Amino acid sequence: MRAMQVVDWGKPLELRELPTPEPQGKEVLVRITACGVCHSDLHIWSGYFDLGGGEKLRMADRGVHPPFTMGHEPLGTVAALGPEAEGVEVGRSYIVFPWIGCGKCAACRQNATEQLCNQPRVIGTRVPGGYADHVIVPDAKYLVDYEGVPEDLACTYACSGLTAYSALKKIGQLTAEDTLVTIGAGGVGLSAVHLAAAVTPAKLIVAEIDGTKRAAARQVGAHDTIDNGEPDAVAKAIELTGGGAAATIDFVGRPETAKFGLDILRRGGRQVQVGLYGDRLPLSLAPLAMTMKSLIGSYVGNLDEMHELMALVQAGKVPPIPIETRPLEAANSAIEDLLAGKVLGRLVLKP
Ligand SMILES: [Zn+2]
Ligand SMILES: [Zn+2]
Repeated sequence: MRAMQVVDWGKPLELRELPTPEPQGKEVLVRITACGVCHSDLHIWSGYFDLGGGEKLRMADRGVHPPFTMGHEPLGTVAALGPEAEGVEVGRSYIVFPWIGCGKCAACRQNATEQLCNQPRVIGTRVPGGYADHVIVPDAKYLVDYEGVPEDLACTYACSGLTAYSALKKIGQLTAEDTLVTIGAGGVGLSAVHLAAAVTPAKLIVAEIDGTKRAAARQVGAHDTIDNGEPDAVAKAIELTGGGAAATIDFVGRPETAKFGLDILRRGGRQVQVGLYGDRLPLSLAPLAMTMKSLIGSYVGNLDEMHELMALVQAGKVPPIPIETRPLEAANSAIEDLLAGKVLGRLVLKP
């Protein structure tokens, strides 16, 4: 099999020929036909996440070392089954749900909490992923049907779609009179704009510093947009939301975007923190208590949510995000363009 691997953190990926693995036990071997390139791949590729104050969360501390194959939005055709694998057919195509835990702990025994596992085996962040032409999936239950959806789009639901969906579910029960402000309209943020109407009746305003991305957000259903880079953005947002947003979702995850979200929340509002851009936020604690705001972390989503999301997609309730495909060998150009912030929607690699 071929894989575009990280051979040294932060250095260009290299194409490697590797032995194609044989599925053991309940494992399934999938021949990959599409794999999305996620913004978090940039952090994995660089070898660390920025914690701020000079601190880093290193891939090496997670026990992940080069050579490593990234890619946590794989999709493909079942090529072979392990002797105990059941529930899927050779020759059929599926989305690979990558957010897999140890399979043994209490969190893993319930699909609903598998991403809370302390010994994750996530495909493309802990174990070999989809920047390759084959991948091993530990159990057929992680293969999700996408019939009726184009494969290059379907693969992106495994991370960007699922992350957006799970974050939208965490804003709580809002009404049509409430306003939700999402911050950032890149890959995951734009997916959330597409999904919002299917999950919440709240009015959606998108905050984004890039004019092209603001226009894209309006085109796909945002009621309004704000340039959160403008000095009077907080005042504008409070006016537009009629006194403050009921909920905000920060799809960027920088100190300025998190602060913007918290500043425009109304009393009792909820902010969901999703983006992993990095650094840290100084937080005045007394106002947080007095305004009864909540700050909630959200990381990808669980297998039940993945099935819920695909049911919405297959029912035609989610407009497609823009997709650009490139050959697997062009993975380095995908990383460069993503680093430069040039990507609208999602880049998808084709082995
Ligand atoms: Zn991702
Ligand atoms: Zn576990």
